[in-house]
Amino acid sequence: MKIAFTLFIMALFSCSKDCGKQAEMRREAEANRNKFAGVKFDSNIDLVCKMSLEEGISDTVHYNEKIYGFCSADCKTQFVAAPERY
Ligand SMILES: [Zn+2]
Repeated sequence: MKIAFTLFIMALFSCSKDCGKQAEMRREAEANRNKFAGVKFDSNIDLVCKMSLEEGISDTVHYNEKIYGFCSADCKTQFVAAPERY
């Protein structure tokens, strides 16, 4: 029983490469949060992945005189490629 539990915990914490990248993106976003503390965004979520900007911002875009924040460069790239979709 105890071994099964240990294996379960290990499975929970073992991460793929993607997972590591996500953690890195999140760290970057958190580090940038203060940088954008004075910025008023026109949306309080990342329009691409729907993540709350409270959790962190990595980059911003000006579009139609509005300011949008994004959790990562990936989301920003997706938005810039087709802003009308969001
Ligand atoms: Zn995002």
